[in-house]
Parts: sequence; structure tokens; C-alpha cells
Amino acid sequence: MNIEKDRDLLPYNTFNLSAIARYFVVVRNVSELMEVLRSDIFKSNPFLILGGGSNVLLTKNFPGLVIKNELTGIEVINQTTETITLRVGSGEPWHKFVMYCVNNNYGGVENLSLIPGTCGAAPMQNIGAYGVEVRDVINTVEAIDLKTGDVLVFENKACRFGYRESIFKHEMKNKVFISSITLTLTKTSHRFNVSYGAIKDVLAQSANNEITVKNISDAVISIRQSKLPDPKVIGNAGSFFKNPSIEESTFTRLKQKFPGIPSFPGENGLIKIPAAWLIEQNGWKGKTFFNIGVHKNQALVLVNYGGGDGQKIWELASEIRSSVIDKFNIDLQPEVNVI
Ligand code: NAP
Repeated sequence: MNIEKDRDLLPYNTFNLSAIARYFVVVRNVSELMEVLRSDIFKSNPFLILGGGSNVLLTKNFPGLVIKNELTGIEVINQTTETITLRVGSGEPWHKFVMYCVNNNYGGVENLSLIPGTCGAAPMQNIGAYGVEVRDVINTVEAIDLKTGDVLVFENKACRFGYRESIFKHEMKNKVFISSITLTLTKTSHRFNVSYGAIKDVLAQSANNEITVKNISDAVISIRQSKLPDPKVIGNAGSFFKNPSIEESTFTRLKQKFPGIPSFPGENGLIKIPAAWLIEQNGWKGKTFFNIGVHKNQALVLVNYGGGDGQKIWELASEIRSSVIDKFNIDLQPEVNVI
């Protein structure tokens, strides 16, 4: 175990923000993690678990221990002629895992192509895109109790998945370290989801418009690449805010005032509204403030053009939030963890 001091987190967050961690350690397997959990530095400091660093906004230096998750490995734990069950290390990059599935023609995660972050972060916010959520394929989430070192196994139901929600963001927050996930995917008789118009449109335009695991993945990748900035080029953490879900009565009132407001059916009878639309209506899309701003193709993405300051990005997010409250009386919730 090598706990370093005063490490700049710039290479470890996709916003490309500089912030100094007082202590920093990389864990490559569960025994290294256990060693860290037994250390005095862990026991006497605040801690922060970093995966791909794609869902954090660092607004200041971190006065404790950053644990960088590099628990990797993909293991087949069961298969039949129709399905395959895999255990995946929580530090595996999610998109790399999706590509492994696509290349082997395993169905179930193709709509979730190009989502940044690690496999361990996927169940935390029940990542979802284009009509598919990770809860649809997850069997169990294995986690280490940070206090006792016990291995805990959460069955799908126990994860209490909801729309971008799970037990790991609430009751289990800062109590466990997700070490692996197991998922069951289809080898034959795939259950494709092309309900989102954007996927249908891209497939219809492509020369080979057959619905396959690979073609859906390619379609999702091309849609995302056309709208979202590559963090290697422009620092960002994907969608900064969650898409809000509101009561039907509130929606009816808003629709009278703003007839063009887009909407989709959400969970529990609520109505989903695209946050990007709300932000665009306030004129934020494409606005730049020195070296930070709101992306020109997707108003939900805040960007650091280089040398930006996390505190300034947070101030911009707060201004956007206030303007959406003023105009629509909807309080956008950050999806990104603000540190
Ligand atoms: P988008 O496709 O423009 O959609 C914006 C909003 O409208 C989302 O709330 C989306 O619901 C909803 N929506 C659009 N078409 C729909 C349909 N046919 N049926 C039901 N709901 C529909 O959003 P985007 O920002 O470009 O993102 C593309 C996809 O990636 C979306 O599915 C989005 O949720 C997902 N995404 C996920 C994460 C994450 O998991 N953390 C982060 C960023 C984006 P849904 O949100 O239910 O899809």
C-alpha cells in the first residue's frame, strides 16, 4: 500500500480541475482496499472514493484520503445457451465493459454505450439511457463495509433502484465500497429497446439498419458523440443536473404558460421534463464565461475549457438553478457530486 501525500487530482476528474488531495491511494484488489481500511490515515481522516472521476465537481482541495478504485476484471460466473452472468470489478471503466459485451454479442447494455465512469458507479445512480437502466440487468452488487470490512451482497431488489437512484446514494452512502457487480445478459433472443426516436432515426439512416447489439451500440455512440463534448478535449462531467420529474397538476399549470414544454411519462405517475430545455429557455446554452461555460450543443453540460475553477463552475450552476426556479418554479438537482 502506497499512500501518497498532496496529490493533484487533475488527472483523475473529467472536469480537468486541479485540487490537491492531502492523501491519495490507488487500490487494485480487495486485499489492498482492506489494508487501506485498516490504516490510521483512513480511520482519522475524511475520505473520498474516486472511480472514473466523471461525476464529481472539485470546488476545493480535499483535506483527507482519496481512494482511487482500480478493482478490475471480468469473470464469467454462469452461462446457458441463452444467457451469461458476469462478475465485473467495480473499477472497470463502464464503456470498456459495454464494448466487451457488444464484441461478444451479449445483449442488455448496448443502449448504455459511452456512459462515462466505472462499473461500480453504475448502480450508485442506476445509470440509464435511451430506455434502458442498469437495474434491468444487475443481479447483485457486492460491497465492502467500510467499518467492519465485511463483504455485503445486495440482491437487485435490495439495491432499491429508482430513476437515477439507489440505496448506495442514501442509506449506504459513505458506508460501503462497491467492489463488484454481477449482471445477466442475453446471448440469444435479445430484448432490444429502440423506443427512443433518436436511436430509430440513426438506425434508419445507416446503410446497415438491422437491429443488432452492435448496431444499437453504434447508434447510441454516434448520438452521444454528436451532442456531448469529449472530456479529453473539453473538461466536463456529462449531465450536470438530473432531469426533473414533477406532479401532473404542476405540469398542467406549466403547460398553460409554456405550451412548448416537452414532457415524458416518468415513474410513479410523475412527468419527466428535459432539464436541458429548461436551461435553454433561460438563454444559457453556449454561454461562455472566460474559461468555463455551458456547452453549445447540450445545455445540460457545464464545461471547463482549460484552467477553469471548480468554485466558479459551482457558482455558474447555482445561477442556472436560480434562473430555472424563477421562470418555472422547478429546482434542478445536481447529478454531479460537489466536493
Ligand atoms: P434526451 O435524450 O434529450 O432526453 C431528455 C429527457 O427526456 C430525459 O429525461 C429522457 O428520459 C426524456 N426522454 C427523451 N426521449 C424519451 C422517450 N422517447 N421516452 C421517454 N423519455 C424520453 O437526453 P440527453 O441528455 O441527450 O441524454 C440521452 C440519454 O442519456 C437519456 O436517456 C438520458 O437520461 C441519458 N443520460 C443518463 C445519465 C446517467 O445515467 N447518469 C447521464 C446523462 C444522460 P430518460 O432520462 O428517462 O432517458
